[in-house]
Amino acid sequence: MSSNIPDTDKKRIVIVGGGFAGLALIRTLRRSGMQVVLVDKHNYHMFKPLLYQVASSALNVGDIAFPFRKMFHGWNDFYFRMAYIERVDATAKRLYTTVGDIRYDYLVISTGCVPNFFGIENIKRTALAMSNITDALNIRNRVLRNFEIAVTASSDAERISRLNVVIVGGGASGVEIAGALSEMRRYVMPRDYPRLDMSHMSIYLIEGLGRLLSSMSEQTSAEALKTLKSKGVKVMLNRKVTDYVDGCAIFDDGESIPTQNLIWTSGIRCSAVPGLEQQTKERGGRIGVDAFNRVKEYDDVFAIGDIAAMHDDAEYPNGHPQLARVGISQGKRLGKNLLAGLKGRPMKPFRYCNYGVMATVGRNRAFVEWKKIRFGGFAAWVVWSTIHIMFLLGIQGKLKVFWGWVWNYFGHDQPIRLIIGSYERQKKEDGLA
Ligand SMILES: Cc1cc2nc3c(=O)[nH]c(=O)nc-3n(C[C@H](O)[C@H](O)[C@H](O)COP(=O)(O)OP(=O)(O)OC[C@H]3O[C@@H](n4cnc5c(N)ncnc54)[C@H](O)[C@@H]3O)c2cc1C
Repeated sequence: MSSNIPDTDKKRIVIVGGGFAGLALIRTLRRSGMQVVLVDKHNYHMFKPLLYQVASSALNVGDIAFPFRKMFHGWNDFYFRMAYIERVDATAKRLYTTVGDIRYDYLVISTGCVPNFFGIENIKRTALAMSNITDALNIRNRVLRNFEIAVTASSDAERISRLNVVIVGGGASGVEIAGALSEMRRYVMPRDYPRLDMSHMSIYLIEGLGRLLSSMSEQTSAEALKTLKSKGVKVMLNRKVTDYVDGCAIFDDGESIPTQNLIWTSGIRCSAVPGLEQQTKERGGRIGVDAFNRVKEYDDVFAIGDIAAMHDDAEYPNGHPQLARVGISQGKRLGKNLLAGLKGRPMKPFRYCNYGVMATVGRNRAFVEWKKIRFGGFAAWVVWSTIHIMFLLGIQGKLKVFWGWVWNYFGHDQPIRLIIGSYERQKKEDGLA
């Protein structure tokens, strides 16, 4: 198979992964004079911080996913190939992919992270992760389908199992989806299912540590806990789900909760990069890089974003937090460094400027921490909303999300309650398979 990219006398940079980091890098390269090749397993960039809103029926997929080919209309010498990375041969300077091999002068790995199920096979097979668009749609489909099944369930036990939601992981993603689903239960589902007893539905949020949002301050953790409890979420701290058997989430002490909706936001690890095994020995499978995001031992292979573990930034000796803003900053810095290198100028080391952390709990409450400033409540939610809209791509995307939020806010609605299963399943159900 041929990747079908013309060989020219220009330097070729191949970027694997068009997430926050890869995209920020590519944008600096428009007038670089290099041939730019983007390889991604999806044909779109996704705005991961709002995945939970797709999962909870508040936003459409198209509001948070943007096709690469459209983004790069009018670019000269830009090539997109939808493919999986198979192997890197750094000696021969070739990237092997599912659509053929690609020669490179510079290679940038920005493949981000995947969920970590910590080797628990039953959970890997049955739990709903929240790491990409397909995951978010799976959550939406599963929760809504279980509501439909609950309507005709023959016993209360069956109904409870269909309606219960167990979310494992009390970080920002877990807190956000718990808040959104609790509002769906309170405002939306009683109107859609007037004959279902909503007291049969419990939303559990399970956290192995002693507090939620452990990357934020203790005060924020305490306030998030209070807010979620006020929304009827059953928060269980210092508890570990270790298995999923016969439709029940099983705890390490043997206790169990019946649920057909097990959502796993408990951990991440980096996607493996065959060929760079020696470099991916950092915690969580991250790739060790120097202060210029160069993969150790190579001058022409770089890693940026979640997958890069850099220890040279004095404030972050254990590596940077795996946040969108870090990836964007690294992508921009690397782009500038590559351009400087082409002009024979020295490169500058990466230093992360802390832009703070935020998390939202429901439709009008969030928490913001930036250096010594900390605040929560409605004002924080306005800041959270504004910043997320600012970082969404394109004016059309921003307007669509803004309008969706206004509608949902005043209408207490999460309107995209559509069950759209797989093509194969639909064919089978229609008797056509
Ligand atoms: C649910 C959720 C909520 C989040 N919320 C926030 C938030 O509120 N604020 C914040 O700062 N951060 C948040 N994050 C973290 C943030 O999304 C990441 O830090 C950021 O996406 C990292 O950017 P990246 O470019 O390194 O990787 P990604 O954005 O993950 O992009 C990786 C790209 O690589 C592609 N890819 C992966 N593997 C392969 C392969 N084998 N072959 C080809 N292509 C591949 C993927 O398709 C993807 O396009 C959240 C993450 C999740 C999952």
